[in-house]
Amino acid sequence: MALLRISTVGEKVLREIAKPVTEFNDELKKLSEDMAETMKAADGVGLAAPQVGLSLRVFVIDFGYIDYTKREKEGDKPPKIDFRSVTFVNPEIISRSGVEKRSEGCLSIPNFSADVERAERIVCKYFDVDGNEHTIEEDGLAAVAIQHEFDHLEGKLFIDKVSSLKRDMAMRKVKKYLNGLKDSTDAVELALYGKK
Ligand code: ZN
Repeated sequence: MALLRISTVGEKVLREIAKPVTEFNDELKKLSEDMAETMKAADGVGLAAPQVGLSLRVFVIDFGYIDYTKREKEGDKPPKIDFRSVTFVNPEIISRSGVEKRSEGCLSIPNFSADVERAERIVCKYFDVDGNEHTIEEDGLAAVAIQHEFDHLEGKLFIDKVSSLKRDMAMRKVKKYLNGLKDSTDAVELALYGKK
């Protein structure tokens, strides 16, 4: 497995409509594993292929973290975080209902978060890396994460949904973060966000 470099806002690949996966092969499995490892190293809940420079309809989500937040809310203490990456290939959101506002962040927009309105509940159809089809119904953080990652496949970012004032703030924060990297000696940070 390998850590992949994360593209940041301003890079063209994040604005492209990603292409469907046509072959379920070893290359796809390797990409899925590398994306999971990258998401974990970056402390993310989700990561889409365009964020690692590949315009493909694939994303990963850490359902271990989602389960942890659910149990924490229900008072199940002390909850343990078990990393559990699920890979979504050629996903489709087939229904959306309700409205929910939550704070979101994005690995491609480091150092920034803002409230975003999304559907509260969704039904998503997707394929796993072996080409098996699944349909899931989700709400809460899982629904938000799926919608956020799905947007990446459509060339959309969560900052498109906030005011221009906040968007400018996001751009300044990302710039500041990337400038600060020049002095970083953190190998993981440099692998994730360093130069191409
Ligand atoms: Zn994102």
